[in-house]
Amino acid sequence: MVKLSETAIEILKARYLRPGETPQELFERVARAVSEAELLYGPASQAARWEEEFLKVMENLEFLPNSPTLMNAGTPLGQLAACFVLPVEDSIEEIFASVSLMAKIQKTGGGTGFSFSRLRPKGDTVKSTNGKASGPVSFMKVFNCATDAIKQGGKRRGANMGVLSVNHPDVKEFITCKTDGKSFQNFNISVACTDDFFQKALKGGEIELINPRDGKVWSRVKADELLDLIAESAWKTGDPGILYIDEINRHNPTPALGRIEATNPCGEVPLLPYEECNLGSINLSKIVEKGRINWEKLERLVKVAVRFLDCVIDVNRYPHPEIEKMAKGNRKIGLGVMGWAELLIELEIPYDSEEAVELAERLMGFINRKAFEASAELAKQKGSFPNIDKSVYRGKTLRNATRTSIAPTGTISMIAGTTPSIEPLFAVGYVKRVLGGRRVPFIEPLLMKKVKELSLQQLKEILESGTLQRAEGIPEKIKRIFKTAHEIAPEWHLKIQAAFQKHTDNAVSKTVNLPKSATPEDIKEIFITGYKLKLKGVTVFREGSKEGVVEFKVDQE
Ligand code: UDP
Repeated sequence: MVKLSETAIEILKARYLRPGETPQELFERVARAVSEAELLYGPASQAARWEEEFLKVMENLEFLPNSPTLMNAGTPLGQLAACFVLPVEDSIEEIFASVSLMAKIQKTGGGTGFSFSRLRPKGDTVKSTNGKASGPVSFMKVFNCATDAIKQGGKRRGANMGVLSVNHPDVKEFITCKTDGKSFQNFNISVACTDDFFQKALKGGEIELINPRDGKVWSRVKADELLDLIAESAWKTGDPGILYIDEINRHNPTPALGRIEATNPCGEVPLLPYEECNLGSINLSKIVEKGRINWEKLERLVKVAVRFLDCVIDVNRYPHPEIEKMAKGNRKIGLGVMGWAELLIELEIPYDSEEAVELAERLMGFINRKAFEASAELAKQKGSFPNIDKSVYRGKTLRNATRTSIAPTGTISMIAGTTPSIEPLFAVGYVKRVLGGRRVPFIEPLLMKKVKELSLQQLKEILESGTLQRAEGIPEKIKRIFKTAHEIAPEWHLKIQAAFQKHTDNAVSKTVNLPKSATPEDIKEIFITGYKLKLKGVTVFREGSKEGVVEFKVDQE
C-alpha cells in the first residue's frame, strides 16, 4: 500500500484522482494501463508480471512517471506524454493549425515548445495581400491567448516554450518581449544561440540577421551587444534563457530526420517538430541505505523504469497522426531523477562541493549506462526503434533513440515527498499561508532529522530568513549541508548541471538561482560559462526579480 504525505494526498485529490478513486487505485490504474503494452509482444503472464513490477516501484515512491501518465493512463483521454514540439511554418494556415494542435495537447496536460524562427520578420512583404508581415512576436500572442483560454478546462495550466534563432531579424523584440513583467505569461522563452554567436561575442564580431523567407541578410548586429541585451532582460525577469543550439544538434540522435530547433517548456527535451517524449524519474532518496548508495537497487529501478517508459509509447493515445509516427519511429524516452538534494543531505555532502560534482557524474553515468543497456536488452525482445538506420545508432540494437532527461519534477517530487529534480533546497523553513488566511510554520523535515531539536530563537530565525546561516548554535557542518538555492554560488549550480548533462542524452532542466544583488554582467558570465561547459541550455532566476518565469506550481494550489 502506498504511504503518502498530506500534501501529496491534497495534490492527487485536486487533479489526479478520478471520481471515487483512492491514491492506491490510481497507481493500480496506471500500472495496469501501461503494462497492457506487453500484450503486444508476449503472453498475458508477461503483462501481469510487469504490472506487478510497475505497481511496486510506484507504490514505494521509488519511480514516478510524468503527470499526464498519472492523470490519464487507463482513462478515455489516454494522452500520457508531458513534452511536445510542434512546427510553426510561415503561413497563416500553418500557424493556426499549430495553435489548434497546441490546444488539443494542453487540454491533456502536455507542454508544448515551438521554434518561431521560420516566420518572416516584422515589416516583410506578404505577397497574397500586398500587406506587411507582423513578425513572430505578434503571432506568439495568439498562442499565449489560446493557452489562457484552455487553462480553465484543462488538466493543468498550459506551458509553452518559445524559441527564436539568434540570427532572426526580430531577435531584439523577442529578447525583450517579457520585460514588462506582464506579457507572455504562458511562455518561457529562449534564444537559440550558435557557436558562431558565442565565438563572436567573446572575440568581438558581428552576426548576420537573416530573413528566413528568402535567406537574405536583413541587417548585422554586434554579437556582444546582443548578449548584453539577453543578460539584461534575464536580469529583469528571468527570461530569456539560452539554448546552445549547436551543442544540442551535436547530440541529435537522428540528424537525417532534421535539425533540432526547439525544446519542450522546461528545456529538458530538445525535439524535432511533431516529436514528443514521455518522462519518468527515479527517487534518489530511496536508494540511500544506512548512509550508502545501494547501486544494485538503482540498477533494478532503472531497468523497470526504462521498460515502463517504453511501454507508454505503445499504449499512448496520440493527439495527431504525425506525432504518433514520430513517437513510434524514434521511441524517445526521458528517464531522470528527483531527490538529489535529499540524497546529498543523507550522505552529508554539501551541494556546493567537488564531492557532490563527482558523485553527480558517477551516479548519472551509472543511470545512463544502465538505461542504455536496458534499452538494448528491450530491443532484443521487442525490436529496435524503426528509424535506427537513419540514426547515429545505425548497426546497433537499441529500443529508444534517447533514454535519459532531467525534468523539473515540480509535481511528482511533491507526490513522492522529496526534493525536486537535481535542485538544492529552496528554503529550510518558511511561514505558509493556507486557505482561510491562516499562517502555518513549516520547517524542512530533513533538517529536523539531523538536528533533532531547535530552540525557539533558532526557529524564529529560520522562519524569518528561510535559511540556517544566521541561526546561532547550529553546528557549521549542518549549516554547510543545508545551504539553500540562493546561498549556493552560481558556479556550483552550473557545475552540478554540467555533471548531470555529461551523462544525459536529452537535456537538464535547471535554474541557476542568483541573489538579488547579482548584475547583468554576472548573468552574461553565466551564459558564457554554460557555453564552455557544453550545457544544452541555461535558465537564471534572480531573487526578487519579477515573476517572469512561468510558474508551474499550480498543482499545489
Ligand atoms: N509541464 C506542463 N505544465 C506544467 C508543468 C509541466 O506542460 O504545469 C510539462 C513541461 O513540458 C515540462 C514537463 O511537463 O517540461 C515536465 O515538468 P515536471 O517534471 O515539473 O512535471 P511533473 O511530472 O512533475 O508534473
